[in-house]
Order: sequence, then C-alpha cells, then structure tokens
Amino acid sequence: MKNPFESREIWFLTGSQGLYGPETLEQVAEQSKQVAGLLDDADSIPVKVVWKPVLTDRDAIRRIALEANADDACVGVIVWMHTFSPAKMWILGLDALRTPLLHLHTQANVELPWSTIDMDFMNLNQAAHGDREFAYMATRLGVSRTTVVGHASTDAVRDRVGRWARAATGWAELHQLKLARFGDNMRNVAVTEGDKTEAELRLGVSVNTWGVNDLVSVVDGIDEDAVDALVADYEDLYDVAPELRSDGDRHESLRYGARQELGLRAFLEEGGFGAFTTNFEDLGGLRQLPGLAVQRLMADGYGFGAEGDWKTAILVRLAKVMGYGLPGGASLMEDYTYELTPGNEKILGAHMLEVCPSLTTAKPTLEIHPLGIGEREDPVRLRFTADPGAGLVVSMSDMRERFRLVANVVDVVEPDAELPKLPVACAVWEPKPNFATSASCWLTAGGAHHTVMTTALTLDVFEDLAEIAQMELAVIDADTTARGFAQELKLGQVYYRMAQGL
Ligand code: MN
Repeated sequence: MKNPFESREIWFLTGSQGLYGPETLEQVAEQSKQVAGLLDDADSIPVKVVWKPVLTDRDAIRRIALEANADDACVGVIVWMHTFSPAKMWILGLDALRTPLLHLHTQANVELPWSTIDMDFMNLNQAAHGDREFAYMATRLGVSRTTVVGHASTDAVRDRVGRWARAATGWAELHQLKLARFGDNMRNVAVTEGDKTEAELRLGVSVNTWGVNDLVSVVDGIDEDAVDALVADYEDLYDVAPELRSDGDRHESLRYGARQELGLRAFLEEGGFGAFTTNFEDLGGLRQLPGLAVQRLMADGYGFGAEGDWKTAILVRLAKVMGYGLPGGASLMEDYTYELTPGNEKILGAHMLEVCPSLTTAKPTLEIHPLGIGEREDPVRLRFTADPGAGLVVSMSDMRERFRLVANVVDVVEPDAELPKLPVACAVWEPKPNFATSASCWLTAGGAHHTVMTTALTLDVFEDLAEIAQMELAVIDADTTARGFAQELKLGQVYYRMAQGL
C-alpha cells in the first residue's frame, strides 16, 4: 500500500500577542521553531511537522484556520500558547477550523531556572496560564481536540503526538475513501446494515454498490500470463498444498484464485477504491467465494467486510492507514466460538475465509477445502494463526441516528493446542478485563460480530479518531466494570443525541 503519511503534514501554530514587544516575539518565534523541530525530528511522528509564523491577532488566526482547512496536505494542526494569547482573538479561527486539532501544553524550558528567574523570563514563558486561556475558549466553543501535556523532548509526548497524527491522517484518508460493494448485505442480517448517506456525511466515505457480474467480466478477462506469474509468486510466498501446485490435480482452482485476485485488484484500481465488500449469497458468475484474493488485498491495505459489511470494511481500511509502518497488522475478524473452561476463557476468532495474513509473521499455508455455503466451487485460502501479542478489536454499529464504535483491548494468545482440522486462518484472544465482563459489556453496547482486529494500534489512536469524528466510542479495557460501562452507555446515549442537535 502507498505510504499514507508521505506528503502529509501537521502545522505547528504558536499563539502570542504584541504586549511584550518585538524582542519577546522574536524569542517566541525562535523557541517555537525549536519545539516544532523536536516534533518534526521524532521518528514516532510519521508526518512532517511544519512551523508557521507566530499568531498575534484574530485576522491571522482566522486566516491560518481557513488555509489549514483548504490544504489537502495538512491533516491537522498543533496549537501552543507560548506566552499569553488572549483567547477572544481565537474565536473566529477556532470556529472556522475544520482540521483535527491537538493542543500541546508545553513550554520551551524543561527546568525552571530557580536562581536566575526574573520578570522577563516570566513574561516569555507563560504557557502555564496562556494554554489555560486558550483551552477555556476551545471548551466554551465545544471544539473537539486532543490535549497532550509535557515537554516536546520526551518520548511520551512525541509518541502521543505521533499516535494522534496517525488518527488525523486516518481521518484525511477517510475523506478520500471510495468503497465498492459487490452486491448488498447478507439477507436478514441486522448489524451489517447502516445509513450510507450518514456515513458519507459523518466519516467522508463514499459507499456504493456494483453488480457482482461487473467484477466477473474483469476476472474472466484476465490473461493467462498474468495468472502464471501470480501463481509463481504464491509458490514463493506460501507453503502451497501439493494438490494446488502446478503438478497437482487441483491446480486449476489456484489459478482461478489468482485470476480473482487480479480481477479484483484491477477493478479496485480502475475505480480508485480503497475498500470493498463481498457477499456469498450474491456471487453471480464467480466460481469461488473470493478468499485468497481478499486476504491478499487486505494485506496490501484494502479495507474489507464480508457479507456486505461496509462499516467493518471502513474500519479495516482505517486501521491499515493509521497503523501503516508499525509492527503488527489489521484484519476483518469475527467472534466465532469460545473456550469456556472457567479461568481459561478465550475467544476463537476467524471467518469463513477472509482473515488478513498481516496478523502473522509466519509463512501461511495455501490450501483448498470445501465451503458449505455459497454454492460454488471449493475456495482457495491462506491458513495461519495470528501472532500472540497486544491487540484491539473495534466494531461499528448503526444506532439509528448515529454510529457507535465499541472497542475491546485484548491479548492475542497462542491456541491451547494445535488446530489441525480448522481449515481457515484464525486468532485466539483473551479480552480485557476478563471474558465475562468483556462479553457482557459488548452485548450491552450492541457491538457487532464483525470487527477490525488490529495488533498495530493502541486504543488511544481510536480515541483520537472518535474525538475528531465526534463519534461515540465505548471502551472495554482493563479498568472496565459492567456497571460502570452500562452507566457510560446511558450517558453517552443522551450526550450523542444532544450533541448532534436537531
Ligand atoms: Mn461474517
């Protein structure tokens, strides 16, 4: 996938005023350049941080907000009040700003110069109250933002800014995302439904449907040389089952899998799509339910949802963008079945085929097995078990007038034993804070059975994204209690309805 951070930037805005004279303002400019530089140099911040001239009046502030809105390269702005910037000068700018905002509460110096401090120093270094004045106005105006506190030279601050920059880039990418659905949702399934018009307004994503036979004609038109080359790649990359190899008696099934991948890829590239869905009930002239093809496209950064689940496809794409370059991966996941031995509870997640191999560092096997549903030929698929480590599952539900994200922090673990008969890729995990609390909270929240599982991202990236999108995010983590969670949901229900207005 293309690096989503390349050619994107965060603007660093510094607030001050003319009260202390030009010399002070020069120092403010110099020091704020240094702070911006500390952020720009940080490896954990994946986009460029661009310093902008110090802001000292309301016209300049409004102007820079409008410029940030208009510039597609600018995915977010960091704001810091180096001195004191009377916040009424920020009203128009904050009101106009549509770009994600991070309020960095920092100062130029780390140590307070106790023995030499004088009034000049005091007048220059006033973020302690300058930022409070700014934050008052941002809060009064109801401006969504992430606040980060600490010195810009520390890893804690730079890493936190980096994770917010990932969320801000995810937001920018959502606004360029076109999602292709091949067919509609699986019949009678509720949670995969949703308001696609609202999705475009709230998240910026364009969701539209194509007849699956539009795809079939592209798949059927792929030439044999391209299939030959891709099958050769498969043999390099995976442990291909003997029956699927070029001398195996089911090799033709693998060739058709390759043809599907090439056709899907061509269709998505041609239409500029970054995410897609399929539905096993609506396969038209496709000979197999796409398994291998979907797995490999997800591994290349495409969002995917099965059974027409476009909301999860959005989440998968979002996790791919926000997690770009980090160890770990992201995939469509489905809570499938449980290990319920008391004290050893685990969730076995999988799908009928489509789990992304970015969840493993091992070499997957490429196999063919029957599939009881879909009424087509046996599909080829990659098989593996997700690497153990920290993870997160997130779902999106349509709650009538809004979307609700539900997130659960999990530990992906090794299965208790080998799974020799399981014909699909899977992940096994222990949810926080424990199985019973996690599952009861998830059910109370109306979370979906489809999720994105990410092993690259931490919860705070999704929290930032939810803040930017002004979306509800119900969190189940180590601190969650069932009672507290139920209470939060009720409060959230009131808040998100009221916050939306009439
Ligand atoms: Mn499913």
